[in-house]
Amino acid sequence: MQIFRSATVVVERDPEGVLALILDVPGRSVNVLNRQVMADLDGALDAAAASKAPLLIVRSGKKSGFVAGADLQEFLSIRDAASAEAVSASGQKLFAKLAAMPMPTIAAISGACLGGGLELALACDYRLVFDKSNTQLGLPEVELGLLPAWGGTQRLPRIVGLERALRMILDRKRLNAADAFRWGLVDALAATENELREQLARLAFRAVGEGKRRFNRLPLRTWRQRFLESNPLGRRVLFKATERRMRPRVPDDMPAPYEALEAIRTGIHDGMVAGLAYERGAAGRLAVSTACRNLIGLFFQTQKSDQLPKELQGAMPAEVHRVGIVGAGTMGAGIAQLAAFKGCKVVVQDVSQAALDAGLERIEGLFRKAVERRLLTEPESVERLAAIQGTLKWEGFDNVDVVVEAALENLDAKKTVFCELETHTRPGTVLATNTSSLPVERLQEGLTHPERVAGMHFFNPVHKMPLVEVARAPDSSASASATLMQWASQLGKTPVLVRDSPGFAVNRILTPYLNEAVILVTEGLTIEQVDRVMKRFGMPMGPLELLDQIGLDIAAHVALSMQPVLADRFGPNEGFEKMRSAGLLGQKSGRGFYLHGGKKPKINTQAQELLRAEKSASLSPALPISARVAESRERMVLLMVNEAALGLSEQLTASAEALNLAMVLGSGWAPHRGGPLRYADDRGLADIVQSLTALAARHGRRFEPCTELKRRADANEPFTQSQPSLV
Ligand code: NAD
Repeated sequence: MQIFRSATVVVERDPEGVLALILDVPGRSVNVLNRQVMADLDGALDAAAASKAPLLIVRSGKKSGFVAGADLQEFLSIRDAASAEAVSASGQKLFAKLAAMPMPTIAAISGACLGGGLELALACDYRLVFDKSNTQLGLPEVELGLLPAWGGTQRLPRIVGLERALRMILDRKRLNAADAFRWGLVDALAATENELREQLARLAFRAVGEGKRRFNRLPLRTWRQRFLESNPLGRRVLFKATERRMRPRVPDDMPAPYEALEAIRTGIHDGMVAGLAYERGAAGRLAVSTACRNLIGLFFQTQKSDQLPKELQGAMPAEVHRVGIVGAGTMGAGIAQLAAFKGCKVVVQDVSQAALDAGLERIEGLFRKAVERRLLTEPESVERLAAIQGTLKWEGFDNVDVVVEAALENLDAKKTVFCELETHTRPGTVLATNTSSLPVERLQEGLTHPERVAGMHFFNPVHKMPLVEVARAPDSSASASATLMQWASQLGKTPVLVRDSPGFAVNRILTPYLNEAVILVTEGLTIEQVDRVMKRFGMPMGPLELLDQIGLDIAAHVALSMQPVLADRFGPNEGFEKMRSAGLLGQKSGRGFYLHGGKKPKINTQAQELLRAEKSASLSPALPISARVAESRERMVLLMVNEAALGLSEQLTASAEALNLAMVLGSGWAPHRGGPLRYADDRGLADIVQSLTALAARHGRRFEPCTELKRRADANEPFTQSQPSLV
């Protein structure tokens, strides 16, 4: 019998009097918490409290999961710290009401239980979890520059212990069902539907017997917790160690992890009331921080990229079920595995049996890892693997919807492949190239149907990197590009439409940056100084580490193919050539800027010496070292800003937002700074132009601000909108 009904929540009573509060937000595939849901929950709790029932079970009405988090759309209406604080206060109040219900409460969790969803579950007395492959419990708010602000920073440590809570909140560790059980985040675990019913009945019996629970103290379940968390000294050690660990990893201008840490510390030292007050205040401060606004902006931008961009509207994308991949190397194998993983039938072609075998082995390895990470089951993996065929000829290519060419990066080789593809595929098949640096336009030359050729640039490693650049050449049809955009989304990637131009968007903007990093070493800065300053800025790795990963030979090759767009501003970089001739190719040769092979890469002083040799003696640095390091950051960052501005004026992407998104997803570009053009806006374009002009005077014309930057600075016309928007 229903005792409460609202738009998003119902409360039912079973014949034994047990209540089930069922959350089901209409029109959404997953539950999210917004004002309406919170108000409905409030009413439902009042009705439940008045019912005198012995037990309340909170669950989701959706098959997809429990609650995916707070509704970020509402976040867009928050304009000041006070209103963010008020949202935090009302959530805290609601969950305090849930925690204080007169009867014991159980959260029955399956699927996603994240952010506000987990905070809701934490306010229940008991938790039961259904072990499905998509079950995930976590508090990832810090990822968006926020902190859990509905009591999560207070309740989580009291349930799983301090150290584990710090890992979940600061390191954004998400737990699967088994780990959640092991960590004491949930009280019961069920693997099958039958077991779920059984475990729920058992937990209900226990809850009624044991009654309400009080989470006033840390749990102290393990010896480590008893040793470290039971006394003030141990806790101090833990907080200090956490801070020490955080400091090198949290970039400058990213306050969220520190605020979250402080909220936890306050709650542990001064009690939950003080902790909650800190949490609210921090929510207010963070919600209006530049980092948070930028991270939320990127979140919405990513969401929007599921729809076709304006330039392709009206085009009819084709469905993609069967794909052909040319080249079974690093990229070909990665793309084939991803396509099969997502349910496509795949045929992979290579010129040598050995390469094909190695590629198929790589694919098997990727599936094995996916099973280990519980992304799919063993039988599913066997089935998907069976959907991949290898060929040395073109068998099966007459029946595919899309081909992705990922063969050798050589124009003639690729042109031959495209001529072959024209004869071996149906006329409707879209032909894509994964080239990093060759013009798509050149691959269309001589084809009868150039309109079906476009670029589809995946990043390495394919299963991890979220971006795909879809490159449209003047002759590429809108429908071919639209097909690739839509298929990339179906593969779980974020597609960004780019113009066919050397290096597309991401490699084009990275090239001056990597170039400058090497110049800085030739001028006498250490490898460590160059990499560290960019990691503090927010890059996931330093530019020299990145060069080692890419391979100095490849990077030099890419830089060379970019000459048509860079030539009058950047000369060829002798540093690349020196490294290459000395066999210092990076990871692939075991040596580059770092020595690889040990547990952790070590600085390769040989590279430093090699690059410095002639030049540094002649250089008498006018600036003290700290100023030179600071200036090095300006040099590397502003070159990217300038290149991005120039790229935008050349319509590499249709908007500054798309370009920013491509940089963040394709290169890990400091997400909390929102991408290079957002960073420029936040800093002020006049300042950027002035700084570049000063650098040009000191270091040469590669720093001269481009016309687009100067025009916008003069006109006071920022690149991006000040608030993220949904349309
Ligand atoms: P790779 O050397 O690992 O693999 C290339 C494969 O293509 C080899 O198995 C080779 O046998 C095969 N091959 C060579 N010529 C062929 C032909 N004519 N027909 C069919 N197969 C042929 O190279 P990779 O790193 O996988 O790169 C492949 C493509 O992807 C290149 O265009 C590269 O620029 C691009 N790309 C590479 C990366 C990266 O980080 N590795 C990232 C993005 C794009």
